[in-house]
Amino acid sequence: MLTHFIGGTRVAGGSAFPVRDPVTGAEIDQVYDADPEVVDRAVRAAREAAPGWAALPVGERAGWLRRLADGIEARFDDLVAAEAADTGKPLEAARTLDIPRSVLNFRTFAEIAAQRPDEAFHLPGALSYTVRRPLGVVAVIVPWNLPFLLMTWKLAPALAAGNTVVVKPSEYTPCSAALFAEICEEVELPPGVVNVIFGSGPAGQLLVEHPSVDGVTFTGSTRTGQTIMRTVADRVRPVSFELGGKNAGVVFADCDLGRAIDGTVRSVFTNGGQVCLCTERLYVEQPIFEEFCAVLAGRAQIVEPQPMISAEHRERVLSYYALARSEGAKVLTGGGVPSFGDARDGGYFVEPTVVSGLSEWSRFNREEIFGPVCHVAPFTTESQAVDLANSTEYGLAATVWTSDLDRAHRVAQRLEAGLVWVNTWYLRDLRTPFGGGKLSGTGREGGTRSLDFYSQPTTITIKLEQPDA
Ligand code: NAD
Repeated sequence: MLTHFIGGTRVAGGSAFPVRDPVTGAEIDQVYDADPEVVDRAVRAAREAAPGWAALPVGERAGWLRRLADGIEARFDDLVAAEAADTGKPLEAARTLDIPRSVLNFRTFAEIAAQRPDEAFHLPGALSYTVRRPLGVVAVIVPWNLPFLLMTWKLAPALAAGNTVVVKPSEYTPCSAALFAEICEEVELPPGVVNVIFGSGPAGQLLVEHPSVDGVTFTGSTRTGQTIMRTVADRVRPVSFELGGKNAGVVFADCDLGRAIDGTVRSVFTNGGQVCLCTERLYVEQPIFEEFCAVLAGRAQIVEPQPMISAEHRERVLSYYALARSEGAKVLTGGGVPSFGDARDGGYFVEPTVVSGLSEWSRFNREEIFGPVCHVAPFTTESQAVDLANSTEYGLAATVWTSDLDRAHRVAQRLEAGLVWVNTWYLRDLRTPFGGGKLSGTGREGGTRSLDFYSQPTTITIKLEQPDA
């Protein structure tokens, strides 16, 4: 049974619900669903620990972040196993991406915070300088698709900036956060600096509503982001949102076709399409459209399927497969549920799917699906490709495949997305701004921008009197 971690101790509280392995549907653990008392206790613990943590010199907080990174490395195999069991992703994915990136999150923000200079401005006869104070208690609410990676991506800079936190992982993936609570104990992090509560949407809602929460950092669906924004509006608290996407890939006929196909297969099907940065709309220049579709559909058939996170999410993805048909799509491959003849038949799999023939205004092409699926459409001119790629209410990510350097820059700069990749996908440096516009979020995290969000500047101006001559 997984228990909350509050003020450095284990706390039971709320009703219990099962955690399931998406590969087989079997129950792997039980976890508590935080009730109002648990949420209040966690926020109060964070509030109590806040002054002491904020008062530490930044170099000391950076030291704690490094200790947490060491602690994660010491429990590396346990975390890999927990993340794979919770999400259904291959062990190899957790081993090469999720857990190492989490270590990097702590190490990177330790460096950035410790090395960040203060700002000072010399005015005629005065000095103006800026100090940054932490927000206080930050609520960290994260989804299930990359649970540990996304949790630590927010937690590390929040702690580095001097905040204490209450973290609520997704109800589907509590296990790595439970291990992280153990790591906090193992490295003897001061009690109350990190508090972990488990639970579903209503527990998150209670946390966001709590009057002692000073800021909310959220990764998840646009709909939940909208609810959170309304919830904190009365108290005018800062929010950082990394929300959904409906990302476009634009493939020009002058591309290196092999690289474009390999990259597109990754960008559509990685993690079963359950990455906010995955491509769901593909636009391919007319001369190579037929060939590209045929090769992509063939590759989709040999992609190793990864389960959806839950039975409900599988139903949701399948409802989009049905929608594609009812809207008149041509199904190039997939569209159903695979059959394995083993325990995986109890899991939450869907077939990797490629469809074409729908307009950009169809529901299928407007709404985020979050599964292993994309729609492919042809274009004839560069400007049409840009218009099609931008014909979405989302603005998170896009990819461009071309060998023409001028075109690469021209197109990338016209795409309405927070992240544009050219001839690659998912390559990033943690110092760069990350996030999207439109329905995909507000603000950017990454590098010093994260530290900006998790702190508030005070500008101090001092008049310097001149001595009498
Ligand atoms: P979700 O919005 O359903 O849930 C996310 C988290 O919010 C969970 O912990 C959930 O319990 C909690 N929650 C639900 N209702 C709440 C409420 N009213 N108040 C407070 N918290 C609440 O999202 P999900 O299904 O877990 O994740 C998938 C979504 O996340 C997709 O839309 C995907 O695009 C998005 N995502 C975005 C990014 C990004 O960086 N932009 C990264 C990963 C995932």
